[in-house]
Amino acid sequence: MMNEVRTACSHILGTSIESFHSLSGGDINEAYLVRTAKGAFFVKTNTASFASDMLQKEAKGLNLLAEVNCIRTPKVIASDTFNGTAFLLLEFITADKAKPLFWERFGQQLALLHQQTSDHFGLDHNNYIGNLVQKNGSHDDWLHFFIKERLQVQIDLAKKNNRIPHSIEDAFHQLYKKLPSICPIEPASLIHGDLWNGNFICTSEDRVVLIDPALSYAHREMDLAMTLLFGGFDSSFYDAYHETFPLEKGFSDRVEIYQLYYLMVHVNIFGRAYLNQVNSILKKFV
Ligand code: ADP
Repeated sequence: MMNEVRTACSHILGTSIESFHSLSGGDINEAYLVRTAKGAFFVKTNTASFASDMLQKEAKGLNLLAEVNCIRTPKVIASDTFNGTAFLLLEFITADKAKPLFWERFGQQLALLHQQTSDHFGLDHNNYIGNLVQKNGSHDDWLHFFIKERLQVQIDLAKKNNRIPHSIEDAFHQLYKKLPSICPIEPASLIHGDLWNGNFICTSEDRVVLIDPALSYAHREMDLAMTLLFGGFDSSFYDAYHETFPLEKGFSDRVEIYQLYYLMVHVNIFGRAYLNQVNSILKKFV
């Protein structure tokens, strides 16, 4: 696979490859730092049968984020397949340590991204979260979207793979009836969709670069809920976000509702261990 991609990169970049180093950190694909006389590039790759559509949707997401021009993304050079190998070739971003100024700017910029709104929840194409398809059918109502395109898709997948007991499925159905009194009504915001620590890079200029988007027009609290699922970001990120685009009161009381989606994605990717957390959240609300 590596040799295929090396050849393809050399061809696309129109220069010979000086070095091709494997990078760690990805959950799904192989990733490489490509050094050439024209500069450094990043390429991620996988077998075409598995990842061709996934990498193309990733390129589409990065291009859409670049178009709205609120937060930097790596420039997309190419997304293609070569001899059965799919690859995504991007600008290489050198990572630095995150400092308070970085977090403050990140909070402000995410708030600006969330101010990009649409009349409908969803997106004009389905994409992926991790390696799972993320459906983005169009809905006028946030809760219809959240239930139909987010929670229920993951519950149905978990059912198919024997990963969810009836009791939890029933609890979700009871929760659905209560959601209108829990979630505030807001316009559909453009969200990153999978905003955890592994999906942004801090540059040496203390600027954020977003990677691995799972975009949709959704409730902006989804992004904040994902940042809080595994420990949270620096407090200056949340302060700056709130100052730029204040949240409705009571976010901390409903944050776990949004996290149910991400936890069900974890059940489907990593296994039943995440059901305990799902169950304890459901018990609080049902
Ligand atoms: P996967 O799709 O397999 O989850 P990632 O997108 O997370 O892979 O990328 C793997 C690693 O490469 C991560 O450590 C990530 O920070 C880094 N990375 C991703 N995109 C770039 C880029 N454009 N420049 C430099 N490093 C990157």
